[in-house]
Amino acid sequence: MTHWRLGLGLGLCLLASAGLWVLWLCAENWLPVSHVPYYLPCPEIFNMKLQHKEEKPLQPMKQFQYPQPRLVQHRPTELLTLTPWLAPIISEGTFNPELLMRIYQPLNLSIGLTVFAVGKYTQFVQHFLESAEKFFMHGFQVHYYIFTHDPAAIPKVLLGPHRLLDIIPIQGYTHWEEITIRRMETISRHIAKRAHQEVDYLFCLDVDMVFQNLWGPETLGDLVAAIHPGYFSATRQQFPYERRQVSTAFVAENEGDFYYAGAVFGGRVANVYEFTSGCHMAILADKANGIMAAWQEESHLNRRLITHKPSKVLSPEYIWDATKPLPPSLKLIRFATLVKDSRWLRS
Ligand code: UDP
Ligand code: MN
Repeated sequence: MTHWRLGLGLGLCLLASAGLWVLWLCAENWLPVSHVPYYLPCPEIFNMKLQHKEEKPLQPMKQFQYPQPRLVQHRPTELLTLTPWLAPIISEGTFNPELLMRIYQPLNLSIGLTVFAVGKYTQFVQHFLESAEKFFMHGFQVHYYIFTHDPAAIPKVLLGPHRLLDIIPIQGYTHWEEITIRRMETISRHIAKRAHQEVDYLFCLDVDMVFQNLWGPETLGDLVAAIHPGYFSATRQQFPYERRQVSTAFVAENEGDFYYAGAVFGGRVANVYEFTSGCHMAILADKANGIMAAWQEESHLNRRLITHKPSKVLSPEYIWDATKPLPPSLKLIRFATLVKDSRWLRS
């Protein structure tokens, strides 16, 4: 009789633990956790080997790959959220907008935004500003600085409360490369002259763009750069860095973390000053040697960001290319290029 009871007790215990084990397995599989090295062009310094149970170790990717169907089915994929130097990579789902608002709004920050509109690019200003009014830094003081050779061509756009706009006349250059590359110099001078007294943070953006979703305090950081939408899936060797050693923008084969877009950068106003004046010095040195870097100021920006790492990196949500199909990894687009006829615009 006692043996029979003991046997039954043991059997029940076994059954219960098997049940618990099955439950645990189910719960684990439902957890939406997966770290796939999406933006991982530098395997030597960030040889990530995250391993899920019963899965082969992830290899550093030669080329961008979408996660295996099994992974997608059971575990929604997350983008890489930290750089190898532990700077956050910002994309939808990595932050809590309400919480950030509660932290940043009481600080009474003023956010500057520089754009250049020279020659035919003045036609982008209206659309740019209207979309910025809709989506850029709601609830903050915003100070737009529009640099143009032709102030009369800048349209009047109705601004919300606590939002200012200054039109700053600059010289117009005939060559479009000269216009784009001169931005570093102009921005650094402008910060030294007045912006450092007027704003806490400064973003420097292309004007041939449009905001499509909220861009808020999640983007604030000491030095902020954005991953170029054309190269977020490319390997380091494919990045279009300046490869001529004679240029100050030269990047060797074994250097580089991400390829950043020249159309979006920013940070604390003092850091942006250091950054733009550093780029300007390098541009001047190239100029003295009769060199124009492969992608003008973008090449210098990329060179400098290797030695002066950004403290925050924005995912391509913050600079999407309208001509590209949206990969499933991007949940939304906040700021996108407009399709344009570059040859006509720059003529
Ligand atoms: N830009 C300008 N006039 C020009 C060329 C460029 O005002 O003739 C400014 C403008 O703000 C533009 C930025 O420089 O957004 C960068 O140039 P562009 O957008 O043509 O470069 P891309 O994004 O095509 O590399
Ligand atoms: Mn552009």
